[in-house]
Amino acid sequence: MSEPTAEQLNRWDRQIVWHAFTQMAEYEPLIIDRADGCTLVDIEGNEYIDGVSSLWCNVHGHRHPRIDAAIRRQLDRVAHVTLLGTSNPTTIKLARRLIDLAPEGLKHVFFSDDGATAVEVAVKMALQYWQQRKDPRPEKTVYVALDQAYHGDTLGAVSVGGVDLFHNMFRPLLFNTIRVTSPDTYRTPPGVSPRNLLAYHLDQVEQVLKEHHRRIAALVIEPLVQGAAGMIVHPPGYLQGVRKLTRQYDVLLIADEVAVGMGRTGRLFACRHEDVSPDLLCLAKGLTGGYMPMAATLATGEIWQAFLGDYAEAKTFFHGHTYGGNPLAAAAALATLDVFEQEQTLARMPEKIERLGQHLQRICKLPHVGHVRQCGLIAGIELVRDAATKEPYPWAEKRGIRVCDHARTEGVLLRPLGNVIVIMPPLAITLEQLDRIAAAVEHGICATT
Ligand code: PMP
Repeated sequence: MSEPTAEQLNRWDRQIVWHAFTQMAEYEPLIIDRADGCTLVDIEGNEYIDGVSSLWCNVHGHRHPRIDAAIRRQLDRVAHVTLLGTSNPTTIKLARRLIDLAPEGLKHVFFSDDGATAVEVAVKMALQYWQQRKDPRPEKTVYVALDQAYHGDTLGAVSVGGVDLFHNMFRPLLFNTIRVTSPDTYRTPPGVSPRNLLAYHLDQVEQVLKEHHRRIAALVIEPLVQGAAGMIVHPPGYLQGVRKLTRQYDVLLIADEVAVGMGRTGRLFACRHEDVSPDLLCLAKGLTGGYMPMAATLATGEIWQAFLGDYAEAKTFFHGHTYGGNPLAAAAALATLDVFEQEQTLARMPEKIERLGQHLQRICKLPHVGHVRQCGLIAGIELVRDAATKEPYPWAEKRGIRVCDHARTEGVLLRPLGNVIVIMPPLAITLEQLDRIAAAVEHGICATT
């Protein structure tokens, strides 16, 4: 078959490829052909700064020589080996490395392939743990999750999710979850001020745990920042408070670091900011530097112990994904961790975080910007119809999309969350590129609101 023309690619992309989270009736193709560092290049040769890290995944830039070389080296050995009963050196080395870096108490790694599967694994492990531990608690089968939580699109992950627009349709298929309100510093509940916000929300968690702890298996949380909710940044102390309460009431804590892990917040794991060790920790997205699908669910020794026994006892974790622990992905992940060390990525972040903050301070003053929020190299800019009353723009007006469409004309690729403009560039972004992203967003907001 001869190489398709650009016109054919555009047509086939519009007519055949069913894109995720995309209204195909109005989809206009943008076909990225190649990349270099933090720059993406489309089939026409147009360049774009990758302002959301190819969906919050890319860490050290695209086509990083060390990561490319690691994958090529692995290709010369083996591309895929199943972890169902066999292993390979690269995946074993990665597991060892993750445990050396992870918060205290996490001792074992279960590999899967995407963020949602990492969460499914954690949810199922938590339930089976309570059934099988020495002092079993079979009644512990319920989960606590936050309003507007997002943990992925498979049914277990959707059950603990709480974004109505995405999840309501599927309610008949979901298990029940107990909800607590997310500690949103912008849209606070009536009578709650920034001063008592933390106490108010921790009290709510405590009330739920006090009343239902006998039947609660785990509380699931996105540490520090609720991403898909619109980059809601929790008040400092919330994560640690939740950890204390879950310990007090004998409830497991599942930390979903799929988005916030791998350096995004300025530390390798977000839990580190609050000295928190969860019982289960989920990683994906940036784990391979944004190169390959791979996820990991890290578990404590205590959880692992509950699954050990004679073959006939059937205490095995009967769960797996064909490509879990894939060696090519593991090679990319190991190289990603190497680059963190060699390039001192985390040590170089503070000036970038500060520069992003300076831009947000300026953008925050625009008339239709209701709120800006930031944690590390994550920023959310919420557009509202009326900043005084916080009245949102109707979702169907596509305000966020319009700003991002404008940014694209200035060579910056972004994807909004409703009315929230997201800036989440690779950690390798330069100050100059950050300036260009911020300028494109600012111009986009001015041009469309
Ligand atoms: N958890 C969080 C916090 C996420 O942000 C996401 C994806 N945006 C997921 C889980 C699901 O990851 P994936 O899309 O790789 O399944």
